[in-house]
Parts: sequence; C-alpha cells; structure tokens
Amino acid sequence: MTHTPGIAVTGASGRMGQMLIRSILDSDQAQLVGAVERKGHAWIGQDVGTAMGGKALGVTVTDEPLEAFATAQAIIDFTAPEATLEFATLAAQARAVHVIGTTGMSEAQIAALKPAARHAVIVRAGNMSLGVNLLTQLTKRVAAALDDEFDIEIVESHHRHKVDAPSGTALMLGEAAAEGRGVRLEEVADRGRDGITGARQRGHIGFAALRAGDIVGEHDVLFAAPGERIVLRHVATDRAVFARGALRAALWGQGKPPGEYDMLDVLGL
Ligand code: NAD
Repeated sequence: MTHTPGIAVTGASGRMGQMLIRSILDSDQAQLVGAVERKGHAWIGQDVGTAMGGKALGVTVTDEPLEAFATAQAIIDFTAPEATLEFATLAAQARAVHVIGTTGMSEAQIAALKPAARHAVIVRAGNMSLGVNLLTQLTKRVAAALDDEFDIEIVESHHRHKVDAPSGTALMLGEAAAEGRGVRLEEVADRGRDGITGARQRGHIGFAALRAGDIVGEHDVLFAAPGERIVLRHVATDRAVFARGALRAALWGQGKPPGEYDMLDVLGL
C-alpha cells in the first residue's frame, strides 16, 4: 500500500516555514495538511497558498495547532522555544512525528521534551543540512586526533534577524569537538567575545558570532596550535537545504519507535 504522509507546518509565514511549504509541494512523497501561525498573525484564516502570493492550496492557516495536527503524520516546526514545547505535547497526543528545527532552546526546555518523546518520534537538530551533519562528524574526528595544544574556535555568521547566538549549529559543532576531545563542553567552553580581556585557556573551545545582511549560515571550525592551523568550513547559500533535510526527517520518522533522534540518525552518519 502506498501512503503519502500528511505534514503540518508551524510558523508557516516564517523564513523557514515558507521554504518548508515549498519543499512539501515540490515533493511527491508528502502532502501539506496544516499550517499554523501565532495568534493575531495577519495570515490566520487565509489560505496558505494565497497568503504566500501563489495559488490556493486548500489549507487554511490556523492558530489552533490541534486543528492543523488532526490529520498530520508529521509536524515540521521551525518557530521559537516556548511554541515548540507546546507543539511537542500536541504532536505526541496526535502520535505525529515532530521534526524540531527551532534553536535557542535552554537545557531545561530540551529536558521538557522527554515526556512527549515517550509517545512519539522527535527528530531535533540545530541544523538539518547534510553538509553540516557531515561537518559535525569531521569535527569530532579531528578533535579526537589532536591534543589540547590545539585551541578550537567556532566562528559563525548569520543574517541580521537571527535572535539566538551562538547559533544552534555552532553549539552542535562545539559539542562534537568536546566529545572528540573527551571533555564536557561546559568545562572548556568560552562563549562569545564580550568581557574577554585576558588570555584564553590552552585547549579551550570558543565561539564567535557575526550578524550581518542576509547571510543564510556559515560555520568555520578552527583548530589552531602554535605553528599550524586547520579550518573546516560549511557555507549554506540556500535555506532549501534545511527544508529538504527536515522533510527527509519527517518521512524517515514514520513507523519508528517513539524517542528522541537527530539528523545523524536520519542520515545514517
Ligand atoms: P522566522 O522568525 O522567520 O519564523 C518563525 C515563525 O514562527 C514566525 O512566522 C512566527 O510568527 C512563528 N511563530 C512564533 N511563535 C509561534 C507560535 N506560538 N505559534 C505559531 N507560530 C509561531 O524565523 P526563521 O528564520 O524561519 O527561523 C525559525 C527557527 O528555526 C529559529 O529558531 C532558527 O534558528 C531555526 N532554524 C533552524 C535551522 C535548522 O536547520 N535546524 C535552519 C534555519 C533556521
């Protein structure tokens, strides 16, 4: 029996929301069944296709997530941390796969996803692109091969509207570097430049964030020792890579046992 999973998109009017809707429409493996926006948003009650400036898609934008999730087998969610927590509970009730691209979640917010993951599949990743997930693996391997003579700095650049810093991706890369080195990130992390006046600790893992223009997302992992350095770099030039990864995760999650997964699981890396 062939089955095309129905997908609901939250934050439908957002930069990623609109990209996700386009990716679903382009795919013959999924169909759009719901679109959610926050209360009071100008798109509520409109057909999502017409709101995006195209033809009607027969899906009305709603501020009632349960309504949008009713016939969905997956929810793709690139919104904001508090909203994502609410959607996790509702997605679990609907037994739908919850793909979370939202970044900037605190440790406590991440821990609060656990009850939902007992009932449904959650795939969460700070970056859904194939390239960055490969970069994560490379970062871990390089960090494992080098001793703490090498300092590690993660430099990320994004568009001026991005609210969180360092980016979810930079934190993923920092975690991978710490794992490769066999330490906990909190022990060696030095987050951001503000207030740093003195020397940095040997073997530290540091973060620096740039915000400018319309940069989609760039990440450099710099390993530097006296006398030499290695730079691993990923540049995203089109948000479509994140949307395609999220859609792949939504399809991959169908029929998987409840639990928390990431893009490395989805990509088999
Ligand atoms: P955006 O501000 O353009 O879009 C967010 C949308 O969510 C907005 O339309 C907003 O109205 C909506 N929203 C907020 N609260 C809501 C609620 N309670 N109910 C329904 N809708 C709600 O932002 P963006 O650039 O699309 O990014 C969204 C998130 O995705 C950010 O956390 C960003 O860092 C993250 N992101 C992740 C990846 C990845 O690969 N994981 C890639 C790009 C962006």
